[in-house]
Amino acid sequence: MEEKILAEGEILPGNILKVGNFLNQQIDTDFLKEIGKEIARLYKDSGVTKIFTIEASGIAIAVAAGYELGVPVVFAKKNRSDNISGDTYVTKVDSFTHKTTNTIVVSREFIKAGEKILIVDDFLANGNALIGLCDIVKQAGATVVGAAIAIEKGFQKGGDMLREKGLRVESLAILDSMTYDGIVFRAQ
Ligand code: 5GP
Repeated sequence: MEEKILAEGEILPGNILKVGNFLNQQIDTDFLKEIGKEIARLYKDSGVTKIFTIEASGIAIAVAAGYELGVPVVFAKKNRSDNISGDTYVTKVDSFTHKTTNTIVVSREFIKAGEKILIVDDFLANGNALIGLCDIVKQAGATVVGAAIAIEKGFQKGGDMLREKGLRVESLAILDSMTYDGIVFRAQ
């Protein structure tokens, strides 16, 4: 992941890393398969029953991991309650990239009490997306076994804050700094 970021990532104003060349818009499918295998290796002994992510850019990674772990994938929808029938779990998430607040929604039938949920996402920045997904799992009476993140921006404090609270957060690459002069990765 680090090599891929250095070779193909692009730093945009506002502390945004663009990875549209391999993860967020065009998807490098061989690389995606490797991501799925690595997430499965990290969580294979955790008894995961389902993977939970948020549309849109978490879905590909979640499916790659779900395929390797042999479990279904559920994704929360953003601001589209009209599209979802029946009872729902709802929470609010401040979007880092769009500077808006999204209401995220998932049908109650897809997350049940007692399930062991692995949360997957493409980026971890301030942690709002992860906190929102954890909130929905809690509403369902299910358990979060941990989070698997493709790219954590460690200079924003979401990851460290959630680890301090006791959540297992595994990130395939952690950026401790990101400037136009270069990127420094955290040794892990
Ligand atoms: P957080 O909620 O942790 O602040 O931000 C995570 C969410 O914002 C992720 O779901 C991701 O889609 C988006 N995000 C945050 N930072 C970046 C970034 O640097 N690049 C891209 N492409 N997405 C980001």
